[in-house]
Amino acid sequence: LRLIGRRLQRLVGPGDTAARLSGDEFALIVHGPATAAAQAAFAGRLLARLRRPMRLGASRYAPSISVGIAPFPAAGCGPRELLGNADAALLEAKRQGRGRHVLFGAALAEQVVRRTRLADALRRAMARREIVAALQPQQRLADGSVLGFEALARWSHEGVWVPPADFIALAEDVGLAQPLGLQVMETAMAGFGAMLRAGLDPGHLAVNVSTAQLLADDFVESLRRALARHGIDPGRLEVEVTETVLLDRSIARIGQTLEALRALGCSLAMDDFGTGYASLSHLTSFPVDRLKVDKSFTRAIDSEGDKGLIARTLIQLGRGLGLEVIAEGVETPSQRDFLVTHGCTAIQGYLFARPMLAGEAAAWLRRQQHGHGQARVAG
Ligand code: C2E
Ligand code: MG
Ligand code: MG
Repeated sequence: LRLIGRRLQRLVGPGDTAARLSGDEFALIVHGPATAAAQAAFAGRLLARLRRPMRLGASRYAPSISVGIAPFPAAGCGPRELLGNADAALLEAKRQGRGRHVLFGAALAEQVVRRTRLADALRRAMARREIVAALQPQQRLADGSVLGFEALARWSHEGVWVPPADFIALAEDVGLAQPLGLQVMETAMAGFGAMLRAGLDPGHLAVNVSTAQLLADDFVESLRRALARHGIDPGRLEVEVTETVLLDRSIARIGQTLEALRALGCSLAMDDFGTGYASLSHLTSFPVDRLKVDKSFTRAIDSEGDKGLIARTLIQLGRGLGLEVIAEGVETPSQRDFLVTHGCTAIQGYLFARPMLAGEAAAWLRRQQHGHGQARVAG
């Protein structure tokens, strides 16, 4: 941090300001670059300088930098708004993949307004407990039986279902990830517990968990209590994390939480593996039980170029490491056959069943387990 601070100081002119805001966040007030082109050029120089590798003790370190730029003066913009605009631009730079700069402008301003409105609506929806979980069945390939259900967050806003991709990230940005996760988990466990009490065997319940949840002090304890309240054995719970969780700065804390979950009897699945930046060593340094092949790799099985090369490689990798492997997004019999051939042990996708609200999922499971004597594949 001190080295970066020194580099920043060298970059700004007399009368400019370089400050550290918090953690690894710095701010510059720079007089001068007035046009968008000049501002972009300045940001380019800034990134190039800050990125230069530095020596930290015995090792070399290449900092990764994201930059948000807000011009001033701007209409209706005071100091507070200026910082807010720069923050929005910084967030956008991170969202676009980091290591770049983003200039605050009309499009971003409109996006900020839209997101603020959606965040307010989400907050109200959560207060009314309108965020629910859909349950999607997973199938064992060996005998066609139900392996478990994955809980997927669902929000019906003004009569339309908002895709989780739109509101989960939003919830994370505005600090709602933790209560949202709890609400999803609560409705998922209620539905799952009801299936158990109805004498059905729903297998395991997989829940997606975000970084903020794993970092909360009481996460494991509140999970344990929720499971007990719904009469669900911890051994039935599978926690799904994505690679981004394992890339978080607080990885030591997260590792402890994952170990505590394991000690409780829960299993751990690595979601969307291969779509992010995790390294293979993450699979061995964390107590991972299951690898989930992302639906983009499943889709590629039927495509000309890839022909399932990545899916096949991931299955081999998982099996080589002694992990269970499940493929997501399986939509066609040819994908399933390919997966069977290459040693995948389970699938999830529209071919077997879609995500369903709790009542529907229970009725579906009853048909699977009682209606037909044995499991069948729903097309
Ligand atoms: P995911 O955990 O990888 O979930 C699988 C996604 O694939 C779900 O999308 C599911 O509806 C979709 N899907 C299932 N079968 C098929 C298929 O055959 N074809 C295709 N094209 N898609 C299929 P969904 O529900 O939109 O969720 C998207 C992502 O949002 C999830 O990806 C997960 O990362 C996140 N998410 C969902 N619920 C939660 C939650 O409660 N907490 C957190 N932290 N994240 C969640
Ligand atoms: Mg998942
Ligand atoms: Mg996935």
